Amino acid sequence: MARKRLDSRSGGAGLLGDIQTPILGDPLDALYHLTGELGRGKFAVVKRCVEKATGKVFAAKFLKKRRRGRDCRVEVIHEIAVLELARNNPRVVNLHSVYETDHDIVLLLEYAAGGEIFDHCASEEPLPEVQITRLIRQTLEGVHLLHQSGVVHLDLKPQNILLTSLTPLGDIKIVDFGLARRLGTTGELREILGTPEYVAPEILNYEPITTATDLWSVGVIAYMLVTGESPFAGDDKQETFLNVSQVNVDYSCEAFSRVSELAVDFIRKLLLKTPEDRPSAADCMTHPWLWQQFTGPEVTPSTPRTPCERSSGGKWAAPPEDPEDKENFLDSPHTKRFRFEEDIPVGEGEH
Ligand code: ADP
Ligand code: MG
Repeated sequence: MARKRLDSRSGGAGLLGDIQTPILGDPLDALYHLTGELGRGKFAVVKRCVEKATGKVFAAKFLKKRRRGRDCRVEVIHEIAVLELARNNPRVVNLHSVYETDHDIVLLLEYAAGGEIFDHCASEEPLPEVQITRLIRQTLEGVHLLHQSGVVHLDLKPQNILLTSLTPLGDIKIVDFGLARRLGTTGELREILGTPEYVAPEILNYEPITTATDLWSVGVIAYMLVTGESPFAGDDKQETFLNVSQVNVDYSCEAFSRVSELAVDFIRKLLLKTPEDRPSAADCMTHPWLWQQFTGPEVTPSTPRTPCERSSGGKWAAPPEDPEDKENFLDSPHTKRFRFEEDIPVGEGEH
């Protein structure tokens, strides 16, 4: 069955084709010690890597050149080009160098030693509100600069926002520009991408993608940092999509009673179905929640997080066997990244 899909090889789908960074052919293991896995996705594995000459630590992202039997060099070059474009953005991970092996193109990235902010969403101990607002401010700064350069990330989620250090809690670094697109080069961008739980309604409806699409994701991230719950996760993908398209969000969660009312106001303003109704990243930066003076000791509330109420058959996902188990959570079907050709019923794509 024919499935309509933008041809990314044409460069007409907001993909960038020119890079300045040389692609080096030197054998990687002659220059670096690879010391362990930091993370992995469908087509990439990220390893901690130490430069032998200097002892400097990097994160090496190994990107497969062939995926599903197709040459994907164009997509890899695009990811490099976006990182180059964001070189002056202090909230985006820095690209150090690029190597090519038989099967992979390897991006040597600035190492973000503090892990994913996902770990703070999945943890029983919520971050203090003052830290949540600091991380959201930094995320918005990064997103604002990306949008100023005409780039939308389209895969913002707690797994793609890293921290420079864990103790003390460092600054954020945005990673994973595989789905990022340049706006405004070829008119409207309508492409289905993202991860079900984090995807904005306009993507499900095959409506134009704009910078507002990223702001939806910022709302989801803020919700998750505050509550420890994913606002739209359903029992299966279809339920998740339904929750997203109906903007079925629960603000009665107990976690909200432990943060200021302004937090709910901030999230409500972002999780709006109509993209034009969402504030821009710059507008968000002026929201009073983000600039609130927090008095008292900057400590984690003594009560550990309790899961939100889940009504049976309602919007909340049945918790995985162990709700605090990140592996388990990540393995659940609704956290898998989906692409148009895989998951969207054909009828929805034939526009
Ligand atoms: P994918 O496209 O497969 O999702 P990512 O670029 O998101 O690849 O990397 C996968 C995971 O690897 C991230 O979620 C993170 O845990 C880890 N990671 C990626 N880049 C870095 C980095 N620069 N420093 C530390 N860890 C990283
Ligand atoms: Mg990722």
